[in-house]
Amino acid sequence: MENIKKISAKEKLQINRQKMPEQSAAIRIHNFNEVNLGLPEHIAMIEAQRCLHCKEAKCITGCPVMINIPRFIKYLSEGDLAAAAESLLSDNALPAITGRVCPQETQCEMVCIRGLKGAPVAIGYLERYVADWYYNNMNKANPPHNPPSGCKVAIIGSGPAGLTAAGELARLGHEVTIYEALHQPGGVLVYGIPEFRLPKKIVAEEVNRLKLLGVKIECDVVIGRTYTLNELQERFDAVFIANGAGLPIFMDIPGENLKGVYSANEYLTRVNLMRAYKFPKSPTPVIKAKKVATIGGGNVAMDSARTAKRMGAEVSTIVYRRTKAEMPARAEEIHHAEEEGIKFEFLAAPIEIIGDDKNWVKALRCQRMKLGEPDTSSRRSPVPIPGSEFILECDVVIVAIGTRANPLLTTTCPELKVNKRGYIKVDENGMTNIQSVFAGGDIVRGAATVILAMGDGKKCARSIDKFVRGKKHSK
Ligand SMILES: Cc1cc2nc3c(=O)[nH]c(=O)nc-3n(C[C@H](O)[C@H](O)[C@H](O)COP(=O)(O)OP(=O)(O)OC[C@H]3O[C@@H](n4cnc5c(N)ncnc54)[C@H](O)[C@@H]3O)c2cc1C
Ligand code: SF4
Repeated sequence: MENIKKISAKEKLQINRQKMPEQSAAIRIHNFNEVNLGLPEHIAMIEAQRCLHCKEAKCITGCPVMINIPRFIKYLSEGDLAAAAESLLSDNALPAITGRVCPQETQCEMVCIRGLKGAPVAIGYLERYVADWYYNNMNKANPPHNPPSGCKVAIIGSGPAGLTAAGELARLGHEVTIYEALHQPGGVLVYGIPEFRLPKKIVAEEVNRLKLLGVKIECDVVIGRTYTLNELQERFDAVFIANGAGLPIFMDIPGENLKGVYSANEYLTRVNLMRAYKFPKSPTPVIKAKKVATIGGGNVAMDSARTAKRMGAEVSTIVYRRTKAEMPARAEEIHHAEEEGIKFEFLAAPIEIIGDDKNWVKALRCQRMKLGEPDTSSRRSPVPIPGSEFILECDVVIVAIGTRANPLLTTTCPELKVNKRGYIKVDENGMTNIQSVFAGGDIVRGAATVILAMGDGKKCARSIDKFVRGKKHSK
């Protein structure tokens, strides 16, 4: 890569934020290919020049795992991509994933000093650029790792928390086995987040890297059914529970049992993991509806509505009880959804799903809302407006209002302490009330983010390393 000449701070301030090239909306609604195409080399170099390498880099504290952002951007701006990648990977095990799915606008980019006057540095775009370069250029045949420790660790769940912990532990020399309930590893990264936002080959690359490190992955194994947690404790020196919080929450309104009502998890799993878009070549179908209504305002709702559009829906509508300003989805997802012609019914909440005489969905009865006082989420709470009911015609309803902990594993191990919402209680090191059992990710935090799950995976791996080595020496 050619070095860009050194420029002054004044010159840096004159460079505008670079745009991410993307598939046009008219084309992408007919395919599942990635929307963002990645920065070309010369654009990435220009964007990297915008960073001021602040002494007190606010972006670092804005990142939930404290990635040394100015350091990797500096190497990038000097054209030393290998050093940039090494720096990034030392802080973040899955940068090609977080560069694509992190909500940068509420984290590192929100506090970037360049955002005070104009646009922040496009940290996410640069993270993705460096990570993609690494995957395309570096020799990954023999990842370095410590000599075997003789300690065995079991990991339950292969989402970002489980994968990150597995990588860290294997590098530290431990023998790691991941147990995954589904037939493919990756957790939400493969069954939830659609291909058009996160190509599955990126997750597969990461899984392969783990396999090269000697990590064993056993799929189609449900802990709590196939084996119990107690059995794993007998066979391993430590167990890390990272089974996510994937049990869908429903609205508890009349009509939720009608044909044509999906939880977002089921809808997305059918399309993403089971490739329903290739039906009948792939054996799993999904209803191809003309009018789809998705309930919710987070990333899961955006992913569902945008997937329904790609599955051929003529009208795909998001029904959300607050306004656009309160939507928890990433700004980019909302923007892309708007470009793709997704309709938004703001300040509206469903009160009934109406069926036809054969019990198929035919409409949603909704009620208009206004915003009242802030609630515990510090967002203004929706208040129903009496007499404001209206009908929204639809033939499929996707419920994307959240998920919670699945009690399947925890109820088979009653001694494991959970809070009143079923999430596992841990101390500051990620250890549960059972000494050799650790937990992290959504099963501890409730539905959160990829980067937070990874942060937990890394922290718990370090705690587990200390614990198993201590246990070995005390024998
Ligand atoms: C559709 C969707 C879109 C999202 N978009 C974003 C986004 O853009 N950005 C972002 O930061 N976050 C996003 N999130 C949230 C993010 O994906 C999660 O916070 C993160 O994946 C949690 O990671 P985890 O490792 O704790 O659990 P998960 O990713 O849920 O993985 C848990 C794994 O454990 C397995 N498992 C469960 N029970 C058992 C058992 N008993 N035995 C064995 N295995 C078991 C599951 O099959 C799963 O593979 C999204 C979530 C969804 C659903
Ligand atoms: S705050 Fe912004 S400008 Fe400063 S070091 Fe971080 S990315 Fe660069």
